Amino acid sequence: MKNIPHKIYLTEEQMPKQWYNLRADMKNLPDPMLNPQTLKPVTEEDLYPVFCKELAHQELDNITRFVDIPEEIQDFYKMYRPSPLIRAYQLEKALDTPAKIYYKFEGNNTSGSHKLNSAVAQVYYAKKQGLTSLTTETGAGQWGTALAEACAFFGMDLTVYMVKGSYEQKPFRKSIIQTFGANVIPSPSNTTKAGRKILAENPGTSGSLGCAISEAVEKAVTTPDCRYVLGSVLNQVLLHQSIIGEESAIAMQLIDEYPDIVIGCAGGGSNLGGLIGPFMRDKLNGKANPRIIAVEPASCPSLTRGRYAYDYCDTGKITPMAKMYTLGCGFMPSPNHAGGLRYHGMSPILSKLYHDGYMEAVSVEQTKVFEAATFFAKKETILPAPESSHAIRAAIDEAIKCRETGEAKTILFGLTGTGYFDMTAYNSYLEKTMSDYIPTDADLEKGFAGLPHIPGIQE
Ligand SMILES: *Cc1c(COP(=O)(O)O)cnc(C)c1O
Repeated sequence: MKNIPHKIYLTEEQMPKQWYNLRADMKNLPDPMLNPQTLKPVTEEDLYPVFCKELAHQELDNITRFVDIPEEIQDFYKMYRPSPLIRAYQLEKALDTPAKIYYKFEGNNTSGSHKLNSAVAQVYYAKKQGLTSLTTETGAGQWGTALAEACAFFGMDLTVYMVKGSYEQKPFRKSIIQTFGANVIPSPSNTTKAGRKILAENPGTSGSLGCAISEAVEKAVTTPDCRYVLGSVLNQVLLHQSIIGEESAIAMQLIDEYPDIVIGCAGGGSNLGGLIGPFMRDKLNGKANPRIIAVEPASCPSLTRGRYAYDYCDTGKITPMAKMYTLGCGFMPSPNHAGGLRYHGMSPILSKLYHDGYMEAVSVEQTKVFEAATFFAKKETILPAPESSHAIRAAIDEAIKCRETGEAKTILFGLTGTGYFDMTAYNSYLEKTMSDYIPTDADLEKGFAGLPHIPGIQE
């Protein structure tokens, strides 16, 4: 048998020069995003007040299969990419499994996550259009950090609405974002109409991603030469994140491997959508049939227990409506939820692929996630982000099944980032104060009750 190295890095020549657009290979496309005023499919022009032109184009482009990565972005990528594809030899040994486990590690940059892959692209196109500032939301803080890094590099002003609970729990996250020159505001805030309304209705709220999105969008559309950018969910973000999957496929080809199972954690779906690109492409085109598994928290189970319906992307209901698996835009995970991945909806592309049976989804409880995280840390010497640890949990579970059946499957999972800023969560796991909360059907019904009624489309 060929001796497979522990780590596979592509050379600069081998690095992908194009992003991949999954929609070009989907026989059944996601339903179009709807303009909340006209209830008609959004046009590129509809999106111009919110997104810069090139990103509006990428958002609605269902046709172009491969998109050239501009040279400036390729050069930026070269500062922290390729990311390594790592063979988890020590984890395999510890699990006594015949499975071969590989992971693509995206935590080797200051944002500590894959988020920088899309941040640099979004800032580049906004700058090229002559815009001067951007707004965004951040929950756990990785996206805010990534965007602040990219804005500092290209010389753009940035305002980050940071979910208040996270702002208070992770002061150093805030400091990093400020170090890169961005303005950080805890959300909900009194700086926007949407924020003031949410505060008036719920003064003690610790905020949510949906609230922060409403504030950031409002600020963008009311500020000259300013646009809003989002770090997940959107089609354009999956496009940029396809760099993860394209690199993985090239690296696996170099060692004559192909995954039987591809696993990723799913919050809004961007890392998973990026990682699975080439493998889903083969699946859609009948060339291979890998299992593809999305892993989500049991406390925020959009794919496994959500509705496939049109919903707003934000709590303030000012964004277009997307057809996706959703828990309702008013959904907020229980306060004891510590593992990230808290968004109420899921990428419309992944939602459609899941709905059509091309992917599976599992949900896992957070104590099981942190158990997998600490086990992985001890064997592979990387402190994983809680989000990423959802994928670790599922990969370990699949490897244990292989031990039981004796099958030597090849498993690839996405290790999206590092967990240095999540020690409050790790502590509560270590001190055994962490608990699992699984919403009841009645809890979820409250969220579904708020789904929009769209005459002729969704009653
Ligand atoms: C943001 C984030 C996620 C979840 O976002 P997706 O869009 O679902 O990929 C996962 N892991 C890390 C480390 C993150 O920062």
